[in-house]
Amino acid sequence: MRIKVIVAGFKGRMGSTAVDMVKGDADLELAALLDPFATEKEVDGVPVFTDKKDLVGFDAQVWVDFTMPKVAYENTRFALDNGFAPVVGTTGFTEEQIAELVALSAEKSLGGLIAPNFAIGAILLMEFAAKASKYFPDLEIIELHHDKKKDAPSGTAIKTAELIREARDFKQQGAPDEEESIEGARGAAFDGFRIHSVRLPGLVAHQEVIFGAEGQGLTLRHDSYDRVSFMSGVNLGIKEVVKRDKLVYGLEQLL
Ligand code: NAP
Repeated sequence: MRIKVIVAGFKGRMGSTAVDMVKGDADLELAALLDPFATEKEVDGVPVFTDKKDLVGFDAQVWVDFTMPKVAYENTRFALDNGFAPVVGTTGFTEEQIAELVALSAEKSLGGLIAPNFAIGAILLMEFAAKASKYFPDLEIIELHHDKKKDAPSGTAIKTAELIREARDFKQQGAPDEEESIEGARGAAFDGFRIHSVRLPGLVAHQEVIFGAEGQGLTLRHDSYDRVSFMSGVNLGIKEVVKRDKLVYGLEQLL
């Protein structure tokens, strides 16, 4: 039986790449498309919806979401409430929202995945960074994305920072009497270290974690040059969530 998939945000950069991936996998079936501003009624025989409420009772197992931070929480709740296992790449969730969605998924016995990054290289970077932070507690995260990105810092940077917080003994970095002569010069503060967000045309998704110690430095970097880099992770997510009964946060939970 093919897994029937709804793609929310199908006209976007990530959503359209996900549509191509689903169409290219014989084990998956593109069942429906959602975008509030779509004018077409169908694309290659696949129905297009502009209001998610019209998907109540629809025959599909998985809800893939690449929309916008301000709607992703409501969309994911809707998916869980209506029996669709969510595979969510949209970023911008708060820790509280994720906890609520995990609880809701358990109540509904539905699998799900919220993954701030679907690229395996980015998952490895996060793990390596957390490991290195035990030995190099002085670090800064620099994430770099295209200039259409709406949220900052990136979901990947937040997840990296959370993993570092778990692994590293707390340290307040920088000079105690440090002052910013231009507000924001030192970036966002998280658990004693800083996160910097760069937005430029031409970039896709990139992240560096820079560590400094007496007389030595270490730089970890991952680059997604193309959105195709995320698709093997989305594909894995779709195939795993249908076997599970609780939502997880982070692709590494499925590896
Ligand atoms: P994008 O090109 O702006 O695409 C978002 C699409 O969602 C747009 O076509 C938008 O339509 C549509 N949309 C807005 N509200 C919607 C709703 N309520 N229901 C359905 N569709 C809706 O953005 P993107 O670059 O594809 O990124 C999408 C999200 O994925 C962002 O949060 C980004 O950070 C994240 N992302 C995640 C990963 C990962 O690996 N997890 C990788 C890259 C990006 P309009 O343009 O008409 O408003």
